[in-house]
Amino acid sequence: MIGKMRACRECGDMFDWQAKVKRVGGYANVCTDCHLSGPDPDANTPVIRGFVTGSGKMAAMQILSFGSNADAEAYGRAWNSNSGWNNRRSGGLNDVDFVKIGENIGNNNHKGKQ
Ligand SMILES: [Zn+2]
Repeated sequence: MIGKMRACRECGDMFDWQAKVKRVGGYANVCTDCHLSGPDPDANTPVIRGFVTGSGKMAAMQILSFGSNADAEAYGRAWNSNSGWNNRRSGGLNDVDFVKIGENIGNNNHKGKQ
């Protein structure tokens, strides 16, 4: 059983990391207590989300990198309240800090043939 025990990165307590990851997920070097009570371990890591948007007949996928989960959630909420095939995208989205890292927009204007 020794090999399954690790010292928690946060509090130093020994814990069964396999059982912890299996039960609550997250890092293998943070115990269950710290995982549940501490700050979100992903809070300060870039969050990649994909959003489906539409242009004409073709759907498009926007892949955005957010500075944090909070930003991603904020964008998601703004997106959900603004999205729709015929709705204009406005309000809220520009307030969120994100970087567009990828985009695959349907080409409905034959721009590639210019
Ligand atoms: Zn701990």
